[in-house]
Amino acid sequence: MEEPRRAIPSVDKILQELGEQGLPRAVVLRTVRAELQRVRMQNEPVAAEKLLAQIRERLDDSRAMRLRPVINATGVLVHTNLGRSPLCVQAADALKEIASGYTNLELDLHTGHRGARGEYVESLVALVSGAEAATVVNNCAAALVLALRHFTRARPEVIISRGELVQIGGGFRIPEILEGSGARLKEVGTTNRTTLQDYEQAISPSVGMILKVHQSNFHMEGFVASPDREELARLGKRVGMPVMEDLGSGAISDTAQIASIRREPTPADSLAAGIDLVCFSGDKLLGGPQAGLIAGRAEHITALKKEPFFRALRCDKLIFAALQATLETHLHHKGEAPALPLWQMLNTTLEELEARAAQYVRRLRDKGVQAELSKPTGEIGGGALPTVRIDSIGVDVQVPGKAADAIMKKLRKGAPPVIAYLEQGKIRFDLRTVFPSQDEALIATIATAFKA
Ligand SMILES: *Cc1c(COP(=O)(O)O)cnc(C)c1O
Repeated sequence: MEEPRRAIPSVDKILQELGEQGLPRAVVLRTVRAELQRVRMQNEPVAAEKLLAQIRERLDDSRAMRLRPVINATGVLVHTNLGRSPLCVQAADALKEIASGYTNLELDLHTGHRGARGEYVESLVALVSGAEAATVVNNCAAALVLALRHFTRARPEVIISRGELVQIGGGFRIPEILEGSGARLKEVGTTNRTTLQDYEQAISPSVGMILKVHQSNFHMEGFVASPDREELARLGKRVGMPVMEDLGSGAISDTAQIASIRREPTPADSLAAGIDLVCFSGDKLLGGPQAGLIAGRAEHITALKKEPFFRALRCDKLIFAALQATLETHLHHKGEAPALPLWQMLNTTLEELEARAAQYVRRLRDKGVQAELSKPTGEIGGGALPTVRIDSIGVDVQVPGKAADAIMKKLRKGAPPVIAYLEQGKIRFDLRTVFPSQDEALIATIATAFKA
């Protein structure tokens, strides 16, 4: 009976064998105990070598789960799985500066009394949106929930077009968010056509607000219609009902002007059309941290901030620090592409990318990896400008036999991890989303992953 047990080494012995793992001891210990438990349950002798290998694999998995920098070679600029927008250096510096010390988050340095959190950032949001007032919560979904709870408390219904009951991302559907916030949907129109009359006819004493959702992540063509913002805003004013627009993507500059891509409606466009409130994300086209920005009429902003629920959605000092730096960067570059990674990547010329790709091809071939230049099309991603295709330059590497999955995995487990994609039997690295400072590391990781 004792045989199998004696075959299992002690925890201490295993820890000693494993050596330094670069993980907290408690994490290593938990993994070791879990593996030992598993082996004991199986009640079969297992070679110490095999046990150690299994534990090392589990520890590898834990290391892969840690939050860490990765190389985005997908060509998708705002990649939700990869943390959406990279922050600008000013924001990164601000984070470092604010994070490790104390800050005047809620202290008015002028009077020495308690100050309002985020007041300056709010004024910047209002400024870039051409709004009377603004505020900031954790994300755009939170902004929606806050507004819905507020405006539908006394009158529970919210009017929304059937063409705008959309799914934004993994598991985030507008109708579910609306109902989750206690509001009742009053759907109007059809998937492809909704008229002003549809909205008008839905107005009743039980309606608290009209919501417009920008179709940011898909595009409808053909027999489609919806009232424009001015008409909807006028209707709202006539019946005394707030009209809010969820803009999602959050382009505050004219995207056509600064990056020659289709023009996204800006918060200023909506507010100038008479919409009462807009909300948009901080980490999509704005290029900042995750946040939900709300801008519009001062009376509504004041009321939203008085909601007890607002307290549960407020941002911490790190978000304000990063957002402040991001918005100031935008304001410093009014009318031109702001010095933010997103816009710099978007505006990198094909010639620049081609020159880098040529280096990749040459260097990889030197290392025995058959690489070639390719011309992929990337996209904005993150549910923004879905029809915009961005011409790019990539490096393709032919995959031997059926090794694609294995090599993609090796790339993901590289140091740093590399996220690429498969294209007709080749692994493709789109260079538009790779920072030039990452070129060396990417070449090395590719070479290692493709080594037999
Ligand atoms: C992305 C998006 C959201 C969600 O924004 P988060 O900041 O991720 O919460 C909401 N509405 C629209 C239209 C979006 O595109």
